[in-house]
Amino acid sequence: MLNIGCHLSASKGYMHMGEEAKSIGANTFQFFTRNPRGGAAKAIDTEDVKSFLRFAEENGFAKILAHAPYTLNACSDKPETREFAFNIMRDDLMRMEYTPNQLYNFHPGSHVGQGSETGIDLIVKQLNGVLTKDMTTTVLLETMAGKGSEVGRSFEELREIIDGVELDEKMGVCLDTCHVYDAGYDIVNDLDGVIDEFDRVIGLERLKAIHVNDSKNPFGSHKDRHEKIGEGSIGFDAMVRIINNPRLKDIPFFLETPNELDGYAAEIKMLRDAYEQ
Ligand code: FE
Ligand code: FE
Ligand code: ZN
Repeated sequence: MLNIGCHLSASKGYMHMGEEAKSIGANTFQFFTRNPRGGAAKAIDTEDVKSFLRFAEENGFAKILAHAPYTLNACSDKPETREFAFNIMRDDLMRMEYTPNQLYNFHPGSHVGQGSETGIDLIVKQLNGVLTKDMTTTVLLETMAGKGSEVGRSFEELREIIDGVELDEKMGVCLDTCHVYDAGYDIVNDLDGVIDEFDRVIGLERLKAIHVNDSKNPFGSHKDRHEKIGEGSIGFDAMVRIINNPRLKDIPFFLETPNELDGYAAEIKMLRDAYEQ
């Protein structure tokens, strides 16, 4: 069974996201833990969470994916920006425990000219400060396109971060198809080669979620602009090979394409129709 969802607005709570997901043929979803630019998170409504957990169980939902604000930068050169990132992630991870055993994804950050080694050290330091033995959430590093001074442009950089984390059993990776293609991993012509490389460098058991996005830009462009499924440089056939790859097909897929709900519903149907049971 294809586990697929898309990015939804969290403003009306968990139960609303669950019902919205179901109404468009999804059985999971992604949401921002708070305003993407940061700021205070809404208080958790425990009744809402309880109804959602029951609903998710009854409807065979796969793991859901919380996404940290994309402005969070654990490897900024400004101490106050790093502290902000630290506090938000710690708070997010506490809130995630209301929905145990789910996934939390973040962009490793931008080293803003300090160099990737310094960037990686700062990210590791933050993770070692916020991860706890008792938490049930798996924290995912997202593969990045490598625009500007982004950290996480290669599998090696993600591996280095994971290697520095003491509680590395809490860590996984979210592969974004647009980002890796823009970063120079040829998932169109050599999908199996890219999966082999991921396995060799990081270990395939760390791959916990896949963002399915087409790309507005050509291979290796280091740009990161998402396109609708089948309308970009990756193309529909390559996407169908990705969701059907025996080594990927059981991982939950999340659309982050430029769409409203009806567009997402159409893409989910397209991919479900192309999925081989
Ligand atoms: Fe992301
Ligand atoms: Fe993404
Ligand atoms: Zn992106």
